[in-house]
Amino acid sequence: MKKTVALLLSVLLLLAVLPVNAAALDGGCDCGCAPVIHVSGLGGSFADGDNVVFPPQTDTIVSAVAKAIPATPALLSGNLRTRQQERILQVAGTFFAPIAFDKNGEPATNARKTFTYPEEISHGKGQMIDFDYDWRMDPFTVAAQLKDFIEYVKDKTGHDSVYLVGESMGAAEMNTYLAAYGFDGISGVIWYNGGHRGVASCSDSFADKNDFNEAALSAFLKQLSVSGDQQFLYDLFVALDKAGLLSTVFDSVLSGADTLEQSGMFSRFLREYIGRIPGFWALVSGENYPAARAFAFPTPEIEAEYAGLLEKLDRYYNEVSSRTDEIMLGAKEATGTVGVVCGYGEYGPPVTSDNTRQSDSVILTVDESNGATCAPLGGTLGDGYVQKVSDGHNHVSPDNVIDASTAIFPDNTWFVKYGHHSFSGAQALVDRICYVEGFDVFADEAYPQYLVRDPATGAISPLTADNGAGKTLESGFTAKLLQAVFKVMNVFLKVYKFFANIVK
Ligand SMILES: [Zn+2]
Ligand SMILES: [Zn+2]
Repeated sequence: MKKTVALLLSVLLLLAVLPVNAAALDGGCDCGCAPVIHVSGLGGSFADGDNVVFPPQTDTIVSAVAKAIPATPALLSGNLRTRQQERILQVAGTFFAPIAFDKNGEPATNARKTFTYPEEISHGKGQMIDFDYDWRMDPFTVAAQLKDFIEYVKDKTGHDSVYLVGESMGAAEMNTYLAAYGFDGISGVIWYNGGHRGVASCSDSFADKNDFNEAALSAFLKQLSVSGDQQFLYDLFVALDKAGLLSTVFDSVLSGADTLEQSGMFSRFLREYIGRIPGFWALVSGENYPAARAFAFPTPEIEAEYAGLLEKLDRYYNEVSSRTDEIMLGAKEATGTVGVVCGYGEYGPPVTSDNTRQSDSVILTVDESNGATCAPLGGTLGDGYVQKVSDGHNHVSPDNVIDASTAIFPDNTWFVKYGHHSFSGAQALVDRICYVEGFDVFADEAYPQYLVRDPATGAISPLTADNGAGKTLESGFTAKLLQAVFKVMNVFLKVYKFFANIVK
């Protein structure tokens, strides 16, 4: 139950930070600049005919919550019976039912996500041409669709090569394309807030390594409100936290759930719902895949039952996720133009085993950069820290938090402090990496290795030792008012729990 809650939460949080895709604009050609194709992240809605079935619409959520309501007092008092736990799991499952997959890793419903090719394509500086796809599908199916789209773009624009920018999950899909079809006709490759080395919240959950704690959740929620500039949300979470209500609720939900975990319920939940979707497995790192596979498909009988699905998952592991370094180094050797854009300075989803690691709020900085050395969140690399790999350049950040010398491309990786996942300021950097010959972290003093983003304005500037302090919101009058209300509720809840324990 605890792990299921954690996994569901991580999936919902991923959906909440979907990149916003700009539509391609009308325009002409004759620019001398090969077009840039942007392989989008996980997102978009699914429809069955004219009905949108995912993400869940209000009526689905309302009816699901209504089904769970009878179990709420038991949930809050930490006295859930097995039957009630099953009921809550089923309710959680109904969110995914409309986009369910079968045991072969193929769609089991009519829900589809459609992507229409743009009729007019403009390219060159300031332009990225979006490629979108059904993120549930086997990455090799998506790679074949990307191949067709690349041909379409070349045809439309009159160029014989393109640049690829893989954002978030799109970086994993892009690497699958490169593994399957190679580098012919590719001018350069950029991994942008990329999930090419897994997304820890999904990766750790699938490998049964996730953990859930109330302090981490509280920090993450407050951060979401700050980056979204939502004073009211910030006040709400601060007030809930200070009144002790977050911990009361979560302690209760999480207590008494051990039996369920030991009974294999979480592994079953993976097999019956989320784990049948090959796209989610594209977010599992090569490092975690063997453990995740063994956890979700623990016996030879179960492996046989899911043989069709496992063939897809094993292929992705063997040809893509276990070969990430090889694919990235291959891209540099073949095209000569690579760039990696990462974020840091933010809490990740509160479901990974270690919530003190640098991230862009969704993906860990060490994974986005493929290997940078990162101080724990809130800390530094230490006084007198010496760069791990000496290559004649300084690769340690001005705030002494990141050492890029251990990343796969130390001279071609940019780090944006508070570069929130899928921040919208990367276009200028993408333009330079693609269209300025030999552009690296030393080429332009406006775009050094370390940058900082102002969460309020979105403006990006070079990071210095002084300008990287986080934005902090003061909780206002609303917080104090809510806090008083929540404290009263907390007293009632404690009284309720006291009697619930006596009565059972
Ligand atoms: Zn052109
Ligand atoms: Zn260097």
